[in-house]
Amino acid sequence: MLAEVDQKLVLACLKMIPQQYISADTSRLTLTLFALGQLDLTKNLKEIEISRANWIDWIYAHQYLTENNQNGGFRGGLFSGHKFDKNGNYKKDEYDLPHIAMTYAALLSLLILGDDLGRVNKTGVINGLKLLQSENGSFKPCEDSREFDLRFVFCACAISYILNDFSGLNVNKVLEFIVKCQAYDYGFAQNLNLESHGGSTYCALASLKLLNKLDLIDKKATLLWLLKRQEDGFRGRINKPPDTCYTFWIGASISMLEGTKFVDTVPLKTFLECCKTKYGGFGKSENCHPDLLHSYMTIAGLSIFGIEEGLDDLNCELNLSKNSFETLKNSCNWNLS
Ligand SMILES: [Zn+2]
Repeated sequence: MLAEVDQKLVLACLKMIPQQYISADTSRLTLTLFALGQLDLTKNLKEIEISRANWIDWIYAHQYLTENNQNGGFRGGLFSGHKFDKNGNYKKDEYDLPHIAMTYAALLSLLILGDDLGRVNKTGVINGLKLLQSENGSFKPCEDSREFDLRFVFCACAISYILNDFSGLNVNKVLEFIVKCQAYDYGFAQNLNLESHGGSTYCALASLKLLNKLDLIDKKATLLWLLKRQEDGFRGRINKPPDTCYTFWIGASISMLEGTKFVDTVPLKTFLECCKTKYGGFGKSENCHPDLLHSYMTIAGLSIFGIEEGLDDLNCELNLSKNSFETLKNSCNWNLS
């Protein structure tokens, strides 16, 4: 089976990240999401059932709180920018801030673990989003950042959708920014006047779908741009080699535009088979080491295109299994439209 997960590899990465991941310790929540997501889509969450409550507590330990809920969200790792006083007590400092990509990863991981998000400081998270939107509608990931682009627009939309509260963003400005990021060839760029990119196109389409505004764009022309990204696997940009993660970025985009029937899954499957490693998991291309991101994105893509049976379906706009999406709909204490 192509999607068969090497449990030992995924479980080991959950408990302790390998040396190669040390620089990613400050975004540990994303690595956790890619590991949990693999177990979820392959219906193997029973492997961590015994420690499920501990994992939930560990994720909540990343939550950032300020007085009066002026700001909220999650940090990427428990040691991001932390300082300790001479007695070893934790001291908040100016770099210890929530990051919206990490908040998105935390919320998804909690849903995968079956949590009802009851301990999320919803008011703080929504107030935190208000601090991050620029005049042109784009978002930055955290207060001290200067990076404004579509990636963080998507995170803001997904967080608002999950918490069923869009009052943290100026929706009209978001829509204006997304539409302006569409390039001459109908793909979307990360920011204004840049080159079309598969990841940015996913962020644009998923944001529009979460806002129920996909009709604002020329869907047929965008679908054509996406379909032309297939060689055997998908590539993210013109003239770049295929890469397994675009099985999700491009695949989910095609799915949101209802175009999966136009994709030739035979060469796609062959490409993915070549990228599977002997350690289990997938690298970004043939002869590459496996990593959590590319392994998760490949399995998500296999689900989207129905290449392999036995996987859970995917809610493409949130990048969440249908089963975990049901947790969001049925367990969380707010009405989801
Ligand atoms: Zn990649």
